[in-house]
Amino acid sequence: MRRFIIALAALILCLGTAEARAAEAVVTDVRVGTQGEMTRLVFDLTEKVAFKTFTLAKPYRVVIDLPEVGWRLPPRPLPENIGFLQKLRYGLFQPGVSRIVLDVNSPPTIEKSFILNPEGENRYRLVIDLGTTSKAAFNAQPKTASPQATVSAALFTPPTLKPKPDIVRETPAKRIVVIDPGHGGVDPGTIGISGVYEKHITLAMARELKIQLEKTGRFKVSLTRQRDIFVPLRERVFRAREAGAELFLSIHADAIKNRKTRGLSVYTLSERASDRETAALAEKENKADLIAGINFEDETPEISNILIDLTRRESMNQSAKFAIGLVTELRRKTKVLRNTHRFAGFAVLKAPDVPSVLVELGFLSNRNDEKALRDKKYRSQLAKGMVRAVSSYFSNIEEAYKK
Ligand SMILES: [Zn+2]
Repeated sequence: MRRFIIALAALILCLGTAEARAAEAVVTDVRVGTQGEMTRLVFDLTEKVAFKTFTLAKPYRVVIDLPEVGWRLPPRPLPENIGFLQKLRYGLFQPGVSRIVLDVNSPPTIEKSFILNPEGENRYRLVIDLGTTSKAAFNAQPKTASPQATVSAALFTPPTLKPKPDIVRETPAKRIVVIDPGHGGVDPGTIGISGVYEKHITLAMARELKIQLEKTGRFKVSLTRQRDIFVPLRERVFRAREAGAELFLSIHADAIKNRKTRGLSVYTLSERASDRETAALAEKENKADLIAGINFEDETPEISNILIDLTRRESMNQSAKFAIGLVTELRRKTKVLRNTHRFAGFAVLKAPDVPSVLVELGFLSNRNDEKALRDKKYRSQLAKGMVRAVSSYFSNIEEAYKK
């Protein structure tokens, strides 16, 4: 018996180490300090990992790519405005790649980057020393085949606009709805008054809406992202079209300086924004790719350049019809912003042949809105309103066909 227990213990020990080896590395802390002319960042890690660094301009950023890691940072605000560092973001960039993006206030140089082995109380530490250089010297840096180039190529789908795939309809036909939870991974979106991230609210809302839509039996629903991962804006549009979307619903939440402002609003695509506020909001939402550390230098032309105008106009009409119905339903469920249906050039609404709307669920900068949006019951109420709007939108289309 005793021998058996020892053998068992040995087995458990073995399994234990195997498990530990297979487990992903976890980042457990980050510290930033200045040393003379340099800004030093130190990330604590449970395992040794490979990493890549590179710099970007417009605006100046430093990007650190790691294999997919876990994050267990202490519950305090991330360091900001120390030395050259303005802000820091982290998260999943694409499957297998975790990314840290540093916003810096001058043309950056990576003076040193290395991993220290555990020592005493310390774990593995990834150390990045940032310096600064002149604009001219930064621009003169040789452009080698940076890891950025390969990442971009893999991320961006070719802009050729293929016809939407013909979806073979089962009878009775299910309508295809694609829900787009805004932001994700290295792009947290806006940050709420109590520290909640927009990316988590949007995913929770999208999941709830999917469940409720599918419960009706009328809809087939897919999400542009299933987990906390970064998805470029163009890729979201591409995924919607690939799925054969007949309706595209992008979910967001806003934050602004005035903490009293609250309420939901609905947006459809337009070249001209309905007002300055809306234009600023679209600009902010369209910066998602930039925030995630994507380089736009070698970008292929915008989807919007190859749009077929007629299809687009029809989709815009349909989008507007759905938006009006959505506002009517959601007004019954929650407080809405004045001029609830607004127009602006959101990149994610640019599929020429898919009626698309973007919903800003509320303001995470407002205590009441934030509290409500963190509540599952409230999100379920909003979803109910959205389901009614989606249902009557398709009922109207089906009615029109019969005539
Ligand atoms: Zn957003």
